[in-house]
Amino acid sequence: MNIVIKNIGKKGKGVFAGKNFRKGKTILKIKHNNLLSEKEASSVSYHYQNHMSYVGSNKYSIMKSPERYINHSCDPNSYFKHANIYNEQLISIKPIKKGQEITCDYTIDSNPADIWMMKCRCGSKNCRKIIKPGFKKLKGKIQKGYIKYAPPWNKI
Ligand SMILES: [Zn+2]
Repeated sequence: MNIVIKNIGKKGKGVFAGKNFRKGKTILKIKHNNLLSEKEASSVSYHYQNHMSYVGSNKYSIMKSPERYINHSCDPNSYFKHANIYNEQLISIKPIKKGQEITCDYTIDSNPADIWMMKCRCGSKNCRKIIKPGFKKLKGKIQKGYIKYAPPWNKI
């Protein structure tokens, strides 16, 4: 079993490693078969907007379980690798031990044209406190560390 969903109090649910992962391993394969246009995406309920993933080419997908429960961290241990608008994979960017929470940085594959904002309490040393879209607005050092994980639309 690659992952386990657990309740983690105030943050709701989280996704945890069901086994050890070495760096660069595929944790989840995600298929999007219900793509929404920008207009459609902006007209769904607030609940669904909170679980929206940008997949490129002005298309969005409502995330399903378990990927919708992956929490943000400013010191993430995974990222979403977008192969195309229909397929993405969750890949480990460092070794992850069984039982550890699997997190990703929501800014990496965000659509810079989107407007949302979220307070972060990830507790990591480099926590940015406020998370929003705009990969290219991240500080140089952070951006440099992330560039190999950025989807085509955020590559510089
Ligand atoms: Zn943070």
